[in-house]
Amino acid sequence: MTFKELNLKDDILSAINELGYEQPMPVQEKVIPFMLEQTADLVALAQTGTGKTAAFGLPVLNMIDASRKQVQALVLSPTRELCIQIANDLKGYSKNMRGMRIVPVYGGEDIRTQLRQLDTAPQIIVATPGRLIDLIERGKIELGAIDFLVLDEADEMLNMGFKEDIETILERTPDTRRTLLFSATMPKEIANIAKRYMKNFEEITVGTRNSGSENVEHVYYVSQAKQRYLVLKRIVDLNPDIYGIVFCRTRQETKEVADKLMHDGYNADALHGDLSQAQRDNVMQKFRIRNIQLLVATDVAARGLDVSDLTHVINYNLPDDVEIYTHRSGRTGRANKKGVAVSIIHSKERFKIKDIERMLRKSFVQEQIPNGLEVCKKQLFYMIDRMENVEVSEEQIEPYMAQIMKQLEYLSKEEILKRFVSLEFNRFLSYYKNAEDLNLPEHATRERGERGERGERGSKPGGRIRLKMNVGEREGIDPKRLLGIINDVTGDKSINIGSIEVTNKFSFFDVFADQLEQVVNAFAGQSEVEVSEAKGSRSSDGGRKPEYRPRTGGGSGSYSGGGYRGGDRSYGSRPSSGSNGGDSEKPWRNRDASDRGSSRSYSGSSDRRSGSSYKGGSSSYKKR
Ligand code: AMP
Repeated sequence: MTFKELNLKDDILSAINELGYEQPMPVQEKVIPFMLEQTADLVALAQTGTGKTAAFGLPVLNMIDASRKQVQALVLSPTRELCIQIANDLKGYSKNMRGMRIVPVYGGEDIRTQLRQLDTAPQIIVATPGRLIDLIERGKIELGAIDFLVLDEADEMLNMGFKEDIETILERTPDTRRTLLFSATMPKEIANIAKRYMKNFEEITVGTRNSGSENVEHVYYVSQAKQRYLVLKRIVDLNPDIYGIVFCRTRQETKEVADKLMHDGYNADALHGDLSQAQRDNVMQKFRIRNIQLLVATDVAARGLDVSDLTHVINYNLPDDVEIYTHRSGRTGRANKKGVAVSIIHSKERFKIKDIERMLRKSFVQEQIPNGLEVCKKQLFYMIDRMENVEVSEEQIEPYMAQIMKQLEYLSKEEILKRFVSLEFNRFLSYYKNAEDLNLPEHATRERGERGERGERGSKPGGRIRLKMNVGEREGIDPKRLLGIINDVTGDKSINIGSIEVTNKFSFFDVFADQLEQVVNAFAGQSEVEVSEAKGSRSSDGGRKPEYRPRTGGGSGSYSGGGYRGGDRSYGSRPSSGSNGGDSEKPWRNRDASDRGSSRSYSGSSDRRSGSSYKGGSSSYKKR
């Protein structure tokens, strides 16, 4: 298909031709004809980098009347950077259209400049929600005549806490408007907005839902948490050409990792919320022009950054939310290039990888952390390749060649090569000479995390053990109350609890083997309820029977050490729904969330240490 076949006006066709766009991208092939030929609203699932700005921008420009000096289209964007970028793209597409004016308005810049630009009576405003509301309230922007409203990166806007602002804005626009909503993911909140504010909308998906780019390979490395940084360095050293973002959880961690990398001689810098806007712009610009090879960033700070040729995205920690993983990994593998999304995890996080795999419907590959020798070899041949392919400037070198030849004439070719290689390579050799193996020993890997092939609830090899509590629905137990009881009795919110199932008389939940004793002993110390190991909770080969005895005292509560005799209950099947709370697609979650009275289902587990919930596809969003 060509742009011409899409029936765009000549002055738009000439502009995109000048921009060098030869063919419409898939999202454009779908969205442009839909917009031009039909009247319904649109929800489009598309990631950044797929060409979505032109997908909505070209038809909207095509339908706007440039001679009418009124705001006819509004584009909402989550960040100032994206806002500026969209406005610039639209200006590019409309550069041959007489009288078409596009003005971006966003926070973080003197409002007076924007007020002056608004005086030019633009037909299109591209805005971040907060600044737009400010300008509406000052009476400087009037949305009463808009025909098109585009919500770009709607999921990001919700992530950033703009839900109320978006609703306020939507209510200021006429019902006759046509609404286009673009989002990389489709959480429930987006579906709700679409349902509430959009009429007869069509849904278009580009690529697989939630799956991110097909060009992204997902790999992970398992190591001890305390060796994360060393693993990161090995990954970077194994990829000398790396150009990527290292995502961290907090500003503090971002700073620490970036500082260490810089100190260790890597071409890195940090991007986080403690920097001023000017500093952030500066770092982003240096990264864009590749003055920086590795950008260490928080999710929030990296939002506005649009770089399309990253080789790697590295999750220094796994994010709490599958959608964040999708966003991060979607930053690589763009524009038909291959990319790698790397996660550094510890053994107890394997289940998170499994959950993400399920959500994305993608297989992740566990890679062995390279040893020192492999890294050195890779670096060596990288250098040799560079030497082979380096552009030699005969003219500039010629004047010195005679002297160089003379000075080195006593050395053989082999000797020269050895010395040349050593010059750059000695640093690596000495660093990696006695480098330890960062992979977890085989037995540790097996014992700690592996889930049984048989899925969620069957017998599990060593990693997780299913416990039974002698209270169930008839005692008013639901997953939330169950977690509350576990919290109260153990007094330790860092215990991971997984796969909760509540039946009429009993409740079942998983714990990790190394936290089993703590849980069981805590319950043995009180008299209210009994906790015991559920029948078939361990695999026959991988599971050893507990070698410890429960603490005694404190009433009748007892750990019966596998003493469940309540019939032939099978845990191999998934819970249906409702009180069983099972939806294994929305897995491991945080017990804090349950304390807040979340009404969500609890098929998952929790990890309070991180203080964050691990959420699947249609997760609830919170202000960050
Ligand atoms: P976007 O998803 O809108 O951020 O676009 C990603 C990149 O693709 C931007 O740099 C656009 O300029 C570019 N682009 C958009 N449409 C086309 C096209 N049809 N041909 C070539 N490049 C395009």
